[in-house]
Amino acid sequence: MEEEKKKIKKPLGVARLLPAKCIACGARCQSVCAKHVIEMSESGEPIIDASRCTGCRRCIKVCPAEALEIYYTPEQQKLLEEIARMEAQGGGAAVAEPEEEVEEDALPKGHGEYKGLWVFVEQVDGVPAAVSWELLGVGSTLARQLNVETAAVIIGNKVENLCYEAIAYGADKVYLVDHPVYRYYRTGPYFRAVCSLVRKYKPEIMLVGATGVGRDLAGAVATELRTGLTADCTGLAVDSDRRLLMQTRPAFGGNIMATIVTEKIWPQMSTVRPHTFHMPEKDPNRKGEIIHEVIDISEDEICTKVLEIIQGKTDGAVDVAGADVIVSGGRGVQHPDNFKVLQELADELGGVVACSRAAVDAGWMPQERQVGQTGKTVRPKIYIACGISGAIQHLVGMQNSDIIVAINRDKNAPIFEVAHYGLVGDLFKIVPALTRQLKELRAQSKS
Ligand SMILES: Cc1cc2nc3c(=O)[nH]c(=O)nc-3n(C[C@H](O)[C@H](O)[C@H](O)COP(=O)(O)OP(=O)(O)OC[C@H]3O[C@@H](n4cnc5c(N)ncnc54)[C@H](O)[C@@H]3O)c2cc1C
Repeated sequence: MEEEKKKIKKPLGVARLLPAKCIACGARCQSVCAKHVIEMSESGEPIIDASRCTGCRRCIKVCPAEALEIYYTPEQQKLLEEIARMEAQGGGAAVAEPEEEVEEDALPKGHGEYKGLWVFVEQVDGVPAAVSWELLGVGSTLARQLNVETAAVIIGNKVENLCYEAIAYGADKVYLVDHPVYRYYRTGPYFRAVCSLVRKYKPEIMLVGATGVGRDLAGAVATELRTGLTADCTGLAVDSDRRLLMQTRPAFGGNIMATIVTEKIWPQMSTVRPHTFHMPEKDPNRKGEIIHEVIDISEDEICTKVLEIIQGKTDGAVDVAGADVIVSGGRGVQHPDNFKVLQELADELGGVVACSRAAVDAGWMPQERQVGQTGKTVRPKIYIACGISGAIQHLVGMQNSDIIVAINRDKNAPIFEVAHYGLVGDLFKIVPALTRQLKELRAQSKS
């Protein structure tokens, strides 16, 4: 008779923090932990109860900073050595494969009906809002992780051309509602159309730009569908095991970054500020399906009438949100006249001057130049922060910039934690020196 094989369950290890890497992203690790073994410290870092951790690796998968790793306790090390020894002996032992332990309660029930990620494509007079394409970019990445399709929802009048653009930016499918009733955005007809499509096709996630229109529409849709909506997200990720959208945004007056999940109702809805995510590459060769939908609605049923569209005055306004180079000043600039020093550097780089809220509150700069939670979200190629400490409310508006240069005389200023290049010193010496250097380089390249 064959000797019964000895079975040893392979240990999965235990998650542990690499403190130097943690960026206090807003407790994403804690929110996905099915065993509730993670507490957050006051500084926003996870404290893991190793004695209860099952090594399921969910926290590791969602960590945006690779700040968590698996390690094996001495007891687990011994087991691993034992398994290796038995394997080396060849066939003397069968090792039970590790099973990821998932609590029944952790999995949403009835979720199976809802599938796919949708992006609402906003347009005015057929001109799409760029944030819609940004959301298709991030949306298709998240959808791939969930192994589902990305769909765009386009509502308007004579807007079929936008369907091809949506496909080029990452949509696999487009639901198109094209009718004169939808020429102008009006809450009633638009939210009726979106709700009708959601009820019919049941997407699990819906992303909407946090613009005036998007905020209005998403709120109405979420209320009607009685689902959760997380407004003004600054970060998105998915927990593919639980099929949850991890929605990060500032909370409690911007004092913490919270990661919010809509666990038991669908679709999971988020609005996301423009410039939070990269504009994806446009691929005109992409193929996708266009589904024409007809909503039973007539103009007579709609009480809101659009009489005239009056464009806001933009003459001379500086487009901080759309700039490629931003030289930004904070309280360290000390006086409104000193912003000239920043303007000279910005002119040399072909950029614009922005500021922190401290500079706005002091009356040195207009509010439309403010970057941050209550100001603009920016994503320039270069962001030069001069005399800005790096409060979280400022960081949420600029931390996704391609290159961040911080100039601050306090070497411990938090801005250096997000900066790619840090210059410790007096901005009134460093900024003019940079401008001079650039002028010299330009002169040399001409001669
Ligand atoms: C609900 C809420 C929303 C908010 N929204 C925003 C927002 O949208 N945007 C925003 O920016 N803030 C916002 N804030 C305010 C935020 O908390 C900070 O108070 C603000 O960002 C600080 O601005 P600051 O960095 O310019 O000033 P400070 O924090 O005072 O920092 C000034 C920095 O300048 C440095 N410095 C001084 N002199 C020099 C020099 N000569 N050379 C070099 N460095 C120098 C100092 O070392 C210091 O680090 C918000 C706050 C709340 C509560």
